[in-house]
Amino acid sequence: MTTPHDPLHADRLQVWAQLDDPKTAWRLRHPVGVGIATTRFAFYGRMSTDRFQHFQSSAGWQRFVVDDLIAGHGTIVVEYIDQGVTRSRGWARRPEAAKLLTALADPNREFDAVVVGEFERAFCGNQIEQLGPIFESHHVQLWLPELGGPVDLHNPEHQSLLKLLGVHAKREVQRTRFRVKAAMQSQVLEQGRMIGGRPPYGYMIVDAGPHPNKAHAQWGRRLHRYGPDPETARWVSWMFAQRLAGWSVAAITVSLNEQNVACPSAHDPQRNPHRSGEGWTLRTVASILANPRYTGRQVWNRQHTDHGSLDQADDALGHAEMYRWSRVQEWTISKDTVHEPLVSEADFIAAQAIHSTAHNDAHEFTMTGLFSCEPCGRRLEPHWSHGRASHRCRHGRTSSRLRWSRPSKNIYAREDQAILFLAGGDITIADLPTILEGHRLIIWCDHAEWRLDIDGETVFQQTPPRMTPIPKQRTPRSTESASPEDRVTPMEAVGK
Ligand SMILES: [Zn+2]
Repeated sequence: MTTPHDPLHADRLQVWAQLDDPKTAWRLRHPVGVGIATTRFAFYGRMSTDRFQHFQSSAGWQRFVVDDLIAGHGTIVVEYIDQGVTRSRGWARRPEAAKLLTALADPNREFDAVVVGEFERAFCGNQIEQLGPIFESHHVQLWLPELGGPVDLHNPEHQSLLKLLGVHAKREVQRTRFRVKAAMQSQVLEQGRMIGGRPPYGYMIVDAGPHPNKAHAQWGRRLHRYGPDPETARWVSWMFAQRLAGWSVAAITVSLNEQNVACPSAHDPQRNPHRSGEGWTLRTVASILANPRYTGRQVWNRQHTDHGSLDQADDALGHAEMYRWSRVQEWTISKDTVHEPLVSEADFIAAQAIHSTAHNDAHEFTMTGLFSCEPCGRRLEPHWSHGRASHRCRHGRTSSRLRWSRPSKNIYAREDQAILFLAGGDITIADLPTILEGHRLIIWCDHAEWRLDIDGETVFQQTPPRMTPIPKQRTPRSTESASPEDRVTPMEAVGK
């Protein structure tokens, strides 16, 4: 498919400038192919990323090389240009190259030969060795500037040159990747330099003096770093303080929503335009509590791109690229504190040691479905609490948006507690399966009283058995039965 705009003619100023070059001017006045040669060429070009290469100048440059190469032999009738695709990705996985491959197989295709502006633009590793036979089988020539014309796959000289070019292209990819990584790593490590991106919630970007590179400083470029955002920084400190006081992530989330604290996407709509800004979520709070940048250090490589191996023989197919979270050991952490901390390093590390216990799937519940909530009529849901199988009713509230009011305190029922309760009605846990086979058994739970109901009739009722107190946990956690009203620490009490 032809790209919607011909890069060569898109920029009038460029075309005008090029006309100043006598050679180009001659070529534009005397288009090749007209009445001279008959080969119809498809042009293939590739730009690594739009950010680093200006589309028009790069495409234009590749076209000029090609025009020189095919001058007198034919004319370009169609262009395929991939943008933002790395060369290590195989042709089948580059959008435009894939279209070209499809067209190749079509006997009514509009071209007879394919030409590229530069070997490295199009191929990497052994890609050409795998693609060559495909071109050959469809009787389509492949023209390379490095060979000064069409590739002859049976020519030993061509073969060895292509191999060399492939290896070189591959090395170039690796070298660039390594160089970028090494440069960023050293900037973070040694200078704590801020590297792109939006600041984390709680911070804003502030001026940090002239750029250390004199050439850059000369034209007024300045360094930037994170500074506390007057509106949001205190909430980050508050979140860490609550977490260390034993609050669950959910309780913190609820409280932020209750206090109408603007969530990150509401505070800075440009940060997450895809998010609705409708309130705090567990995920947002958890990611803030896990962000080491709040300690004042700059951290890089928390996420990395996994390129897969470049050495495998499947270059024609290319490699999957995936964003992955790096292991903590792989982080690059600046040597010094480079911005004002919102949490001390000791507190940050302590907060990481507190793990959520809400992994119900991993635990065994034997009495799921037996408990109902007397105040609201809902079935109690399994809830692993302090190492015990337990069930609770939150009366329809979700973990991130609760409405707290006195009468609707959560209802809790522990399974060991229920066994004692049933024993009071002469029912043992061994009897349960038989009873449940033919009858509907419900334990209706209220704060002060439990009621055993079989087939809609109350068998007996009594206060829930008192259990031995739960031993203190290694890390403090919120007692889930307390309503956050009791737990909310007013802002004034935090930090300062
Ligand atoms: Zn309820």
